[in-house]
Amino acid sequence: METSLGQLSPAFALFKNQIFGSPTISFSSLKSQHSPSRKGTRQKVGISKFGNFLDLKPESQPEFLDFELPLYDPSSDRSRFDVIIIGTGPAGLRLAEQVSLHGIKVCCVDPSPLSVWPNNYGVWVDEFENLGLEDCLDKTWPMACVYIDDQKTKYLGRAYGRVGREKIKSKLLENCLWNPVKFHKAKVWKVKHEEFESVIECDDGSELKASLVVDASGFASTFVEYDKPRNHGYQIAHGILAEVENHPFDLDKMVLMDWRDSHLQNEPYLRVKNSRLPTFLYVMPFDSHLIFLEETSLVSRPILSYMEIKQRMVARLRHLGIQVKRVIEDEKCVIPMGGPLPKIPQSVMAIGGTSGIVHPSTGYMVAQAMALAPVVADAIAECLGSTRMIRGRPLHDRVWNGLWPNELRRVREFNTFGMETLLKLDLNATRGFFDAFFDLDPYYWQGFLSTRLSLRELVSLGLSLMLGASNSSKFDIVTKCPVPLARMMGNLALEAI
Ligand SMILES: Cc1cc2nc3c(=O)[nH]c(=O)nc-3n(C[C@H](O)[C@H](O)[C@H](O)COP(=O)(O)OP(=O)(O)OC[C@H]3O[C@@H](n4cnc5c(N)ncnc54)[C@H](O)[C@@H]3O)c2cc1C
Repeated sequence: METSLGQLSPAFALFKNQIFGSPTISFSSLKSQHSPSRKGTRQKVGISKFGNFLDLKPESQPEFLDFELPLYDPSSDRSRFDVIIIGTGPAGLRLAEQVSLHGIKVCCVDPSPLSVWPNNYGVWVDEFENLGLEDCLDKTWPMACVYIDDQKTKYLGRAYGRVGREKIKSKLLENCLWNPVKFHKAKVWKVKHEEFESVIECDDGSELKASLVVDASGFASTFVEYDKPRNHGYQIAHGILAEVENHPFDLDKMVLMDWRDSHLQNEPYLRVKNSRLPTFLYVMPFDSHLIFLEETSLVSRPILSYMEIKQRMVARLRHLGIQVKRVIEDEKCVIPMGGPLPKIPQSVMAIGGTSGIVHPSTGYMVAQAMALAPVVADAIAECLGSTRMIRGRPLHDRVWNGLWPNELRRVREFNTFGMETLLKLDLNATRGFFDAFFDLDPYYWQGFLSTRLSLRELVSLGLSLMLGASNSSKFDIVTKCPVPLARMMGNLALEAI
């Protein structure tokens, strides 16, 4: 049995290119983002037409960490490992760190293992504190806020942080070097499975073998199999890290969601569409002149047009009086959410974007990937650690069920129900939903966002949400949710059999 990059339809990669037209641009660290651009990198400078930043080209260039990696050398190294991990994104590198702690021989394969990760990651500070990773945040805000509409703002007493991409990748790489993990600079082309081992074929012609191959190559992966139709929702967003003349946001609060729509008053066409398929602004204010702004469609199916998101953002910034002087980075974001889990078990293990751990209702994943890697590493060590030699099907069973125990599958089913509900809400209903959601006891709303609640607690959350919601929100939820609710109940019943 085998899976390869070319063999299965690379649906997501194609889909992403169709939406954006070009590959995602990489970003530099915050420090260098704020320093003058390097010679030749700035393409157009000067204050944009009021609020219209689209004519400014992002200045950032791909950046690389300065590490001497122990590279796989086919002339001297054995080509057999215990575990091969495809991809050194957050999920793959964290798993490599955790598995190698057990003394297991790991090789990470990625065409560019020293690239600084491109995305601008946000997490709740307590999530990283619980994992001892708080030193990997490069900026924190003591609280967050949600603008429900022009009249109502919710203040959330939970600290939020921006992940320092260089810091966290450096920390994980340093730990990998101690253990020591090998790195192979190549793109995996094909994975073949035999009874007790798997073989990867790379674009440089090399072949490496391992008892277990873990796919951490992100959403565009083609190595993982599904046995159900992939009916994802999609989060799509356009973000910029920008130098601005000024902005109206408080520096001690990040804006988790701004659902105001007064910026569309003079844009009737955009306003009507926004009231049916709403987008919000996500804001990380770094200082009075440096700010990350992202217009986001929480979830849509079919996916909202990227051009429309940018048009809405231009109108919003103009209305807020934000004049963009420089676009330091831009972020084209598309995240598949919900849909079925991969086939469990299967010969290739998965972690990260390809494994179903993205929160189906929010699109967040980084903190969850950091938290689940030690769990998966323990399961791998139980099978491949020094005293035991469990391979083949029992190994695949153990690791897949380690990542997705029954309770977590049920929790994901509930969270997918949350996504299906959000898909059906228009702007007013979405506002009503979040108004009630953030009125819940913080134990519940924080637990929901961080995948900490049991199924029983999620059911209590659902009931409290209904009790606390306004009459119109109750009506919206009751009239729009029967189908997703029935689907969730059906899937839970199937899981229980
Ligand atoms: C723009 C954007 C912003 C996001 N923001 C947040 C956020 O704020 N908070 C949050 O929690 N989540 C966020 N997410 C969701 C999620 O956390 C990220 O997508 C995250 O990067 C997924 O990590 P990953 O390790 O699974 O995959 P990736 O980060 O995509 O890494 C995959 C790695 O695999 C390598 N690779 C790919 N194919 C191959 C191959 N064939 N052979 C070898 N190597 C290969 C790539 O080079 C890459 O290094 C965001 C997602 C996007 C797209």
